Amino acid sequence: MAKEGILIVFSGFSGAGKGTIMKELLKRYPETYALSVSATTRSPRPGETEGIEYFFKTREEFEKMIEKEELIEYARYVENYYGTPKAYVEEQLLAGKDVILEIEIQGALNIKKMFPQALLLFVTTWDGKTLKERLLGRGTETLDVVQARLLRAGEESQGMENYDYLVVNEDLGRTVEQVHSIICSEHMRVSRNTEFIHHIREDLNNFLKGD
Ligand code: 5GP
Repeated sequence: MAKEGILIVFSGFSGAGKGTIMKELLKRYPETYALSVSATTRSPRPGETEGIEYFFKTREEFEKMIEKEELIEYARYVENYYGTPKAYVEEQLLAGKDVILEIEIQGALNIKKMFPQALLLFVTTWDGKTLKERLLGRGTETLDVVQARLLRAGEESQGMENYDYLVVNEDLGRTVEQVHSIICSEHMRVSRNTEFIHHIREDLNNFLKGD
């Protein structure tokens, strides 16, 4: 079966639980997945650490990264820049890990254009009310930012059809296992296993010839 890692894009509305799902997925399957750490110009939230959640950059530093083509993709989201550093992703894919990009929809669509083989997952809650409650409950954003993020969720909902799979995050443990099983199935997709198909064909031919 295919040994090369799959590039996975994980998007979803702000407050749908992307970060928590990713943390738990990596905790359960540390050998399987690598989570790309993005660069951003947004300020760290309480408890966020440089190099763990994000590489926190000034606007000038971020623009320099764009200039030097150090990012695979980048986007503006609610007044800030976010982007995916190239080197780590390439390295981990070659090492056979499934690399996850937790990014918003513009970035996701750019990745799909550049890497048509990428697997795109979208996570949501059942309804908008839950989303708002979770964003307010987080207590880390001002009411204005919460409103802006909900507005953005409305815009992002227009692009959900571009994704391959949709996951509703109701129960963390269940969602994590659903995400893992989607990715496991993706590894078995026929189009990802052409090398194996050639190998088994040749092996059978040799076997039938009596080699
Ligand atoms: P937050 O500020 O809540 O951490 O992230 C805001 C949004 O930016 C989320 O939808 C998150 O997935 C997205 N995001 C984080 N990193 C990147 C990135 O490198 N590129 C893009 N395009 N979006 C990102």
